[in-house]
Amino acid sequence: MDIRSQFPILEQQVYGHPLVYFDNAATTQKPLSVIETLRRYYTTINSNIHRGAHFLAAKATDEYEQTRRTVQHFIGARHSHEIVFTRGTTESINLVASSFGERYLGEGDEVVVSGMEHHSNIVPWQLACGRKGARLRVIPFGDDGVLDLEAFRSLLNEHTRIVAVTHVSNTLGTVNPVREIVDIAHSRGVPVLVDGAQAISHMAVDVQAIGCDFYCFSGHKMYGPMGVGVMYGREEILEELPPYQGGGEMIKDVSFEVTTYNELPFKFEAGTPSVGDVLGLDTAIGFMQDLGLDNIASHERELTEYATRRLMEVDGLRVYGTAPMKTSVLSFLIGSSHPYDVGTLLDKLGIAVRTGHHCTQPVMTRYGIPGTVRASFAIYNTKDEVDCLVNALQRIAPMLA
Ligand code: PMP
Repeated sequence: MDIRSQFPILEQQVYGHPLVYFDNAATTQKPLSVIETLRRYYTTINSNIHRGAHFLAAKATDEYEQTRRTVQHFIGARHSHEIVFTRGTTESINLVASSFGERYLGEGDEVVVSGMEHHSNIVPWQLACGRKGARLRVIPFGDDGVLDLEAFRSLLNEHTRIVAVTHVSNTLGTVNPVREIVDIAHSRGVPVLVDGAQAISHMAVDVQAIGCDFYCFSGHKMYGPMGVGVMYGREEILEELPPYQGGGEMIKDVSFEVTTYNELPFKFEAGTPSVGDVLGLDTAIGFMQDLGLDNIASHERELTEYATRRLMEVDGLRVYGTAPMKTSVLSFLIGSSHPYDVGTLLDKLGIAVRTGHHCTQPVMTRYGIPGTVRASFAIYNTKDEVDCLVNALQRIAPMLA
């Protein structure tokens, strides 16, 4: 398959230069097949799901529920009702923090997160802790961006109620040993949530092999539409959690006196979901499976190794995040320049990178820097584009000194 031709957005010029899109950790571009699914949904089957007795409602419901099974198999879940559709990783984590916090957190309890979490795996827990008088404990990481597992072990105690860690750091690219983290936590009887936002499009994920209790991700970071995400939760634990939001579909019976809740997964899917986007997620998964998860991973590994080597040719460039296990995220600074200046100059040359704290302010505090320039790769990126970035950096580096 000619991959780039599947992504018309990449064909354009920006300020007279061919677009080089290196902001994939923020969101990936969408292949034609996903765009076509959205068009087909709105031109042929748009309807509200589950409640309707007519042809379109039945068809939309069938395809929506089929996507649940697609996701189940994609991440190796035991049951399709362990897959809950949300708006994205942020909503998935908020759901767990809110419901789990409501049920299990109390005064003096502790929630363990890592020092490299995205704000969306910090703030929901802070809010939950604040409501219940619990507190956050933080796993530190070394200069290379590797989590300190010894420190993690010593953080676990009789007050620990849950561990929430990212599978892959969106700033450092570190792939965390989630299986080991789960084993350590489970040996103390503590459940684990894994934030999979930055892992899901870069490697094969099997939630049963990881052994985690929750796994959260967003469709838009895996070639799918914005507006859809997934919260996977183990059946046994989901059964015990109270609903997150109240509304249509999540109930069995409602009276003014008492309401009983629907079964899984509907208990957690209040209101009308973004049906077309869910169907688009199904197509995005098909796109990735057609390419092969291993092929995607090896292309991106090669590109990351190449880019890391070539970036070293730029005077004064420092990379943040040098863990041996990394995905395709490269965070860097040049000399004493501000990341925003680098990003702006690159933009004028048609190169899209992200600058700033990447919603991981504690990581910046850890290194004592205001932010980084982040280039992140996807399956459609090429070595020519990396060369283009390196040439541009060499061109602008003297202006930054
Ligand atoms: N976690 C990580 C590691 C992320 O990179 C992101 C997105 N930058 C999120 C959570 C939040 O994802 P979303 O904005 O799609 O909810």
